[in-house]
Amino acid sequence: MPLPALSAAVRKKNLRVCIIGGGGTGAALAYDLSLRGIAVVLVEKGELTSGTTGRHHGQLHSGARYAWADRAIARECYAETLILRKIAPETIEYNGGFFIALDDDEAGLVPDFLSALAESGIPSHEVAREKALEAEPAMNPALKRAVWVPDGSFDAFRLPLSFFAAAARLGADIRPWCEVTGLEARGGRVVSATVLDRRAREPAEVRIEADCFVSAAGAWAGKVAALAGIDIPITPAPGTMVAFRGRFADMVVSRLRHPSDGDILVPQRGLSIVGSTQRVTDDPESLLPPRGEIERLRLDGAALVPALASAPVHAAWSAARPLAGRSGSDEGRSISRDFAVLDHGRLDGLAGFISVIGGKATVLRAMAEKAADAVCASLGLEAPCETKRYTLPSWREYYARRGREER
Ligand SMILES: Cc1cc2nc3c(=O)[nH]c(=O)nc-3n(C[C@H](O)[C@H](O)[C@H](O)COP(=O)(O)OP(=O)(O)OC[C@H]3O[C@@H](n4cnc5c(N)ncnc54)[C@H](O)[C@@H]3O)c2cc1C
Repeated sequence: MPLPALSAAVRKKNLRVCIIGGGGTGAALAYDLSLRGIAVVLVEKGELTSGTTGRHHGQLHSGARYAWADRAIARECYAETLILRKIAPETIEYNGGFFIALDDDEAGLVPDFLSALAESGIPSHEVAREKALEAEPAMNPALKRAVWVPDGSFDAFRLPLSFFAAAARLGADIRPWCEVTGLEARGGRVVSATVLDRRAREPAEVRIEADCFVSAAGAWAGKVAALAGIDIPITPAPGTMVAFRGRFADMVVSRLRHPSDGDILVPQRGLSIVGSTQRVTDDPESLLPPRGEIERLRLDGAALVPALASAPVHAAWSAARPLAGRSGSDEGRSISRDFAVLDHGRLDGLAGFISVIGGKATVLRAMAEKAADAVCASLGLEAPCETKRYTLPSWREYYARRGREER
């Protein structure tokens, strides 16, 4: 169903929410709250999607990767892929995926993997090796067994831009190049944010007042919470990805083993993206791939698709996962990929402030739904989520509208 244009008449009690962070999570939240009739102002310190959102593989996770150990996020991923395929078909390439076993140990994992997938509600089936190689001839011919799963890929920029386009159409005030540098509280409640607005030639400090502030600042959420004097459990965990020139497969190809480094190949347009690695950092800003990781990922990728051994590198980059939890000695690997909505009124005695952390780009809509539910609960508002109902406008609409406004 196409998105209706909401009139100002349905606005709920003149409430205003300020969202901090213009990645996928902030985009989906701006849309969700606008659809519930709440006025939204969103501030992003750089260009929209310039955080982790614009730098991931773009794998539409069926949840299969997490089925071994993390059933909650596995189920959520699959449910969300079905919704996104309905509301944002233009941004998705839905070709399916293969998990391939390359040795006897990996082949021995197939029965366990299939039952983990069944228990997570993710459709799957084993495909005879000849049939799998017929479907994706560039895969390693030495593969022993292959399992089909409903993976896909999506455009890391265009999916969030469709959410931004929808939010803007409903009246959301979206402000890129605006960094929150302070959060002010009065009487146990956050009441305003100090924002450095860099859109004009001379940066200006402005104050934004709102009834509720939501940090959707991804790997920066710890820094944003610290502005309000709150310590939240988040681990920024960078990973490296390498884009090789050439599209060697149409399906996502993953190594059939417990999640580890270099075990995914995602096709994106004419490129094949191999990832990833994992470490932890205190600072998610300006990350670069550490020495050696590009060649390591080439070797790992070539195990999946041998042609990658000699394919030219198009680009390599790093980005930080916003893992919801504190890291132990395992570089954050035991932290769930699930997300958490933290209502700091309930948890820390500071009302009007909520953080949404963790998750995956695939579950951006679900993260927004839970965060918007928390906003409504904290404002004493009854307004159900409606983001499953409407087809999102084209991603093109966002910049077309912004261009018109700037001219
Ligand atoms: C290596 C790697 C590969 C991945 N691959 C996939 C994948 O294939 N599929 C998938 O579904 N997920 C994947 N993910 C996970 C996914 O990328 C993230 O979960 C998702 O992008 C997080 O989105 P976000 O909007 O929460 O955070 P972000 O996109 O980081 O957005 C937060 C924004 O907040 C802004 N901000 C920070 N501080 C301030 C401030 N003070 N004021 C204003 N703005 C501020 C930042 O600039 C940033 O733009 C991957 C992650 C990594 C690291």
